Amino acid sequence: MLDSLGTLQRTHYCGNLRAADAGKEVVLMGWVHRRRDLGNLIFIDLRDRSGLAQIVFNKEQQAAAHARAEELRSEFVVAVTGRVVKRQKPNPDLASGEVEIMAGDLRILNTAKTPPFMVEDEVTASEETRLRYRYLDLRRTRPRQNLALRHRVILEIRKAMDELGFYEIETPMLTRSTPEGARDYLVPSRVHPGQFYALPQSPQIFKQILMIGGLDRYFQIVKCFRDEDLRADRQPEFTQLDLEISFPTQDAIFSVIEQVMVRACAVAGITAKAPFRRMAYHDVIRRFGSDKPDLRFGMELHDVTEHFAPARETLRIEGQVQALAAPGAAAFSRKQLDEIAEKAKGLGARGVYMLKVTAEGVASSLEKNLGADALRKIAAAAEAKPGDLVVAVTAKEQIPGTDAAALIAGQLRLLLAEQLKLVPKDRWEFLWITGFALFEWNTTEKAVVSAQHPFTGIVEEDVSKLEDASDEVRLSMRSKGYDLVLNGVELGSGSIRIHQQDVQARVFRALGLSDATARNRFGFFLDALTYGTPPHGGIALGLDRVVALLAGEKSIREVIAFPKTAKAQDLMADAPSNVDTDQLDLLGIQLKPLEEK
Ligand code: ASP
Repeated sequence: MLDSLGTLQRTHYCGNLRAADAGKEVVLMGWVHRRRDLGNLIFIDLRDRSGLAQIVFNKEQQAAAHARAEELRSEFVVAVTGRVVKRQKPNPDLASGEVEIMAGDLRILNTAKTPPFMVEDEVTASEETRLRYRYLDLRRTRPRQNLALRHRVILEIRKAMDELGFYEIETPMLTRSTPEGARDYLVPSRVHPGQFYALPQSPQIFKQILMIGGLDRYFQIVKCFRDEDLRADRQPEFTQLDLEISFPTQDAIFSVIEQVMVRACAVAGITAKAPFRRMAYHDVIRRFGSDKPDLRFGMELHDVTEHFAPARETLRIEGQVQALAAPGAAAFSRKQLDEIAEKAKGLGARGVYMLKVTAEGVASSLEKNLGADALRKIAAAAEAKPGDLVVAVTAKEQIPGTDAAALIAGQLRLLLAEQLKLVPKDRWEFLWITGFALFEWNTTEKAVVSAQHPFTGIVEEDVSKLEDASDEVRLSMRSKGYDLVLNGVELGSGSIRIHQQDVQARVFRALGLSDATARNRFGFFLDALTYGTPPHGGIALGLDRVVALLAGEKSIREVIAFPKTAKAQDLMADAPSNVDTDQLDLLGIQLKPLEEK
């Protein structure tokens, strides 16, 4: 038999009770976390959003409540009335551990089936089971704390944006495609059979139109949808902090983001310092072999190509040779060295060369190819100290316009840093990257494509190259784009935009879009650009990633209430799912048999 809540009101949250509350009559409500039956005494840990409190049912003092407590099982929902008393033996593991509640009355408000996993901090259930029963998983401390942090971070961002003069403005979810390099999620229209909306990959065009509309400073905490192939930590729907400013300098945009991020970090108790460092794309590739370098540790790359000159043919070297000095790794065992070589090969290296640097000199099997002098020069170029291991790599395949060896060395740098424990967990290294190329080469499409999106501004002197027939010239064009990176994670990108209609039309042409296609897809935007468009620019940051980093979580799934799996499925609601033929009929849609797809 269940009791009813009636007019009973909660007076306190479990996790908030302290020694100062001793003597108070309280009403607590929540879930039975654990029950221990010692005969005359029954203890339950009662759980609510704030944490746990210990309740004691004493048979001699409160026979009725004690009898009722015998029925309790894990995850039953109860209301307890009782008196707070100081514990004789405080529990230091519990925030409310100095006190316990002597129960006077117990109402059982609901029962619960035996859960498929215990609601505990150290859960052993697979992620799949956790996501299928997400409502149980959410009762655990970690997801709850993550969502609370997410709430506070978003609240702080909204406050900061308001103080900086931004309006939060919603843009449509049912709209036309905006290109951000992914596929669209399409929504069929019933009223216009055969026609489709696209869910926004970003509010890009709308936010630019808001600038044309004179709104001056826009932001939005907004859901975006990208139908991408499965990648480890991507979600098909995710949240961005999106913003756009009229008449901005790049510095103005950076300053807004810096202020907002410093405040967001403070919410998580993290001190970040502004202004953030800035580096050019070319330099980060050269120094760190990554477009999102982790600056929490050094171990920079060094181009040692020249020292390999005499042995290029023997060693079948193409392209550059990139080296780094792993501190203290000269002591690595044969097995550890083999593992590094294995990993480097897996990353696409052809040659992997190891040089052990000791007080006595530099030892390497390369000596027979290059001579002892070259070894010393390589070690010096890599800034190696005695005790270090220099690892030098070449790439099996070259990538036009990029240093393929640097990219491999860059990934090796991360692996070695992890292995050598060089990554301090309490450092917050923000980095702006500028100086991106406007276009890049897409190997599958065998064509020049936008490096970011086609609305990215172009460095003035390069605009005239738009019509150049040579891919090489076009690939050398510089954009006004920038990225923000934190601790090796790309938080987002933005740019000063194209605000002249003719330049925008020329970019579409340069991307191989016919004027008719460009009109068909972006006609409304091209028109809008002709009616007095102010210079404008902005950025979008992946909010899920920001919160995940601040929460110390590796996966963004841990900071999203109802995340999808890596296969883009909602295991709890079982989406995507089949729909009735009636529904499809209304939309004028007929499904092909699967094998014909
Ligand atoms: N719309 C871009 C994106 O979502 C960001 C921007 O350029 O503002 O990646």
